Order: sequence, then C-alpha cells, then structure tokens
Amino acid sequence: MRVLALEDRLRIAIREVAEPEVGPGDVLLEIHAAAVCGSDIHRFVRGHREYPMILGHEAAGIITAVGAAADPSLVGRHAALVPLIPDHTCDQCLAGRFSACRAYSFVGSRRPGAFAERVAVPARNVLPVPDELPFEQAALIEPSTVARHLLDLGGFSRGQTAVVLGAGSIGLMLVQWLRVLGASLIVATDVAEANLEAAAALGAHVTLNPAKVGVADEVRRLTGAGADISVEAAGSPQALASTVEVTRPKGTVVLGGNQPADASLPMSFVEALMRRELTLTGGFMSYSAPWPGHEWTDSLAAALDGGLDLPAMISHRVPLAAAPAVFDEIAAHRLAHRKIVFDPAAGS
Ligand SMILES: [Zn+2]
Repeated sequence: MRVLALEDRLRIAIREVAEPEVGPGDVLLEIHAAAVCGSDIHRFVRGHREYPMILGHEAAGIITAVGAAADPSLVGRHAALVPLIPDHTCDQCLAGRFSACRAYSFVGSRRPGAFAERVAVPARNVLPVPDELPFEQAALIEPSTVARHLLDLGGFSRGQTAVVLGAGSIGLMLVQWLRVLGASLIVATDVAEANLEAAAALGAHVTLNPAKVGVADEVRRLTGAGADISVEAAGSPQALASTVEVTRPKGTVVLGGNQPADASLPMSFVEALMRRELTLTGGFMSYSAPWPGHEWTDSLAAALDGGLDLPAMISHRVPLAAAPAVFDEIAAHRLAHRKIVFDPAAGS
C-alpha cells in the first residue's frame, strides 16, 4: 500500500510498504481523510525518535476487515481513529488516567500512522460514526477532543468568561467549544490577523492582537478583574506569561500549547499566580474514563448537530502524492494554513 513516510529530519516521501497485519483484536481502517497536526509538522521539522515513521493520527475511514476476536459487524462501518493505545492494565489506566499509561503506544508516532491507505489498530481504537458524517469531519474529531478536554481540565462551566491565547487549530476548536458550551464572553488572541478573523467567524466575541494592543488591559477592561478561565493554545512563551495577567483572582489557567524547550518564564509569573490564587493545570491528549471518554462522544454529537463547524477548520484538501511538497512548504513558512486534509485511499 501507499504511505507517506518520514525518513529523516525534513525528509518525507511517498513509499510502497507491505499491508498492515491485522491482529486478532484489530480492525483494518481504510483511510479516507487524514489531517495534518502541528505535532506532525514538529516531527518533520525537528526530527523523530525512529525512522521510517508513517505520521498521521487525525483520521477517519471505513473498517474493511476485522481480526478473529473483533466484532465482525464493524466491517463496513465508518469510523474515526482514536490514536492513543494504552495498555488498559497498568495502575494509571485502571485509574482512568489513560494518557499517563506506563506502556502506551500512539498511532502515527510510535507505530504506523494514518498517512497511509490503511492502518490496523485495536478495535477499541476506532469510534464508529454515522455514514452521513463526511470523513474529513470525522477526522477532525480528534483535534476537537483535545479542546474539549482542556475545557474540562479548566472546570469550565456555562456563563463563564474565557480567554483563548492562540487561534491556531486547537485555539479555534476551543473558541467553538466555548460557544457550544455557553461562554458569556470569548476573547481570542493571536499575532496573525487571519487567525483572528477565523476566531471571530467561529464564535469569538472579541479578538485581540498582542502585537497591537495590551491584551491584559483589554481583558480587564472587558471583564473587570480578568476572565474566569484562560487557555494557552499558542505554544508561545509570551502567551504563556500573559495567562496569569488575563485571569481573574481564583480563576483557572490551562496550558495546552507545546512550548519551546529552551525558553523560560519570568518569576513574576509565579508571583501573579500566587497573588491571584490561580489554579494552574496542564493538558495532555484528550482521554477520560470510560474509554476513550466523553470528549469523543461529545465531539461526534457536536459534529453531527452542527454545533461544531468542522468544515471551516479546513484550508487545504490535497492528494497524498502532494504531501511531501506540502510539508516542505509548511517548514519553509510559505503556506498559511489551517487544517490540511489528505485522502490516502483516493488513489493517485
Ligand atoms: Zn496503562
């Protein structure tokens, strides 16, 4: 079958590889939509722990075969990929903390991913979806679950005010979830005007460009004492530092963006955290008990009822054969994009 293989840092290519082996408890998912995640780009630009690696974990398709121990009625079902493969047996899994599993695998980073015509995964790593949900929307359930999970971690409740720092894919998903869940004020920040326009179109009441205005002053002007919850989704040290300035006393700060490893925070961050008695929480992946978590069923329901506008998240639809050029363009910062979606099973 045809796959997109990461073969070295900054080297990705279309290759022919053997068909995946379908184990007894596995299903074979024929991939009809696979979206590029920021972490895929990160692995391409910074390099990965092993090569070759088929990237891709935001995906959906049709189950075309099942192993001997899997439910045969799954054959023919449309499904979204659930990429975390915990062992379901360690102490962390038994406590429902799947993303802290002591022996997990992950589709598209630790085992072959979805930038491929087919991928074999355990049967509990697919979320069956109705046939009428387009594959590209089903593929975006995964990034939606990340945003849904971050708001859970922050204890968000209806009527609260929120600041989303960073209006990339996860930031835009956060804006949409805040709208669906009934935030009374949604403020989105980004240095890219196009991202702010998208955020406004998807539900942000106010958009602020930190390169042009004082975000903390503006948020305090709008809210009095700061927002109930702020979520860092930019992966930017500057955005991270400002979370504590835009959050009200006893409010919650959620960290969702991957920060550069070599950056640091001023200790004034800690002082603000203490003086305001803020709650600070990190987010990793998007799972909760019972497996894979309400994040997944909520996202499917919101995709089906139109609460989430997933098509608006997509900027490019390209054949898998064009993927290497797309990765090069992104790495060179020549391609302004939101979600880029491949259809690996479409043929060349
Ligand atoms: Zn485990």
